[in-house]
Amino acid sequence: MSTAYPAAASAQPSAAPGGARWIDLRSDTVTQPSAAMREAMRSAAVGDDVYGDDPTVNALQAYAAETFGYEAALFAPSGTQTNLIALLAHCGRGDEYLVGQDAHTYKYEGGGAAVLGSIQPQPLSNQPDGSIALHDIEAAIKPHDVHFARSKLLALENTIGGKVLPPQYVQQATALAHQRGLATHLDGARICNAAVRQGITLRQAVQGFDSVSVCLSKGLGAPVGSVLCGSRQLIEEGKRWRKMLGGGMRQAGIIAAAGLYALQNNVQRLAEDHANATWLAAELAKIGALQVSTPQTNILFVTMPRDACQGLNAALAAERIRVSMAPTLRLVTHLDVTRADLEQVAAVFAHYFQQ
Ligand SMILES: *Cc1c(COP(=O)(O)O)cnc(C)c1O
Repeated sequence: MSTAYPAAASAQPSAAPGGARWIDLRSDTVTQPSAAMREAMRSAAVGDDVYGDDPTVNALQAYAAETFGYEAALFAPSGTQTNLIALLAHCGRGDEYLVGQDAHTYKYEGGGAAVLGSIQPQPLSNQPDGSIALHDIEAAIKPHDVHFARSKLLALENTIGGKVLPPQYVQQATALAHQRGLATHLDGARICNAAVRQGITLRQAVQGFDSVSVCLSKGLGAPVGSVLCGSRQLIEEGKRWRKMLGGGMRQAGIIAAAGLYALQNNVQRLAEDHANATWLAAELAKIGALQVSTPQTNILFVTMPRDACQGLNAALAAERIRVSMAPTLRLVTHLDVTRADLEQVAAVFAHYFQQ
């Protein structure tokens, strides 16, 4: 494969029961820290971050703020927590946030905004491209009236289900929110994938958002952590919520070092994951029994006859290949899978469906 990044050097053996290597396509969260990343962790200068004393956490936060174009940033253990911190910092009790029905913050974070923040979600349909229709946003913003929760925030997600939100849509949606007095938050767990796919800078990719949450532990390859970027005031407020949520960590530079390494070294190489996903989709599409999505980034979905699921899963497992089967077959490429691995995966599929 012609790429600027030597695949063999980036591919790490994936730890698994029994110690043998598996090809793990369940998610891009399964990556192992590379030797260079582990060295950055080993040699990181650390201090007590609750006192603000950890130089590596401070360096990561400064780097993230600069890279994404915000005044400040906050490091936290997970993307669920950085999203929740953002919601808590933007909204108060009796406020509401507008969010997609399929959005991670609404659907996959345990209802944290409602449970812990008394923030009412106003879920709206996601269009097939992942956007929320502008007229739906417009119609859901409530007038100032004692009957209504106060509409405070619009939250979007990019990428969403591996799809990149159209840039013009992002511009229009965030402008509409601001015009109506709402703040804007981006769940940018995979925003680096979106930026690389579009060939734009990270700053450009988050334009229009008052805050953004970015996962370091997905395609970027860090073992732990997310950053929330925003105004100095929002991040100060966020620090209080992070402490309350149990996210105040001590010598966190050990893991922040991995996040900093990931942001500095593993962004542009996401193009390789995207190319791999596109290649795998094309191979699987040759199999008549399968309907394969066209991946925009590193995630593809495969629809197949229901009765094939169990057998296929067993055939893949026999070759030490892991995939997500429910609710649909999902395959995610990342820095620990090579083109050669995917050739093996495609061969197992072809053999199973006998093509
Ligand atoms: C993974 C993910 C998160 C955060 O997940 P954590 O596992 O808590 O880090 C948030 N939003 C989206 C879209 C995600 O994919």
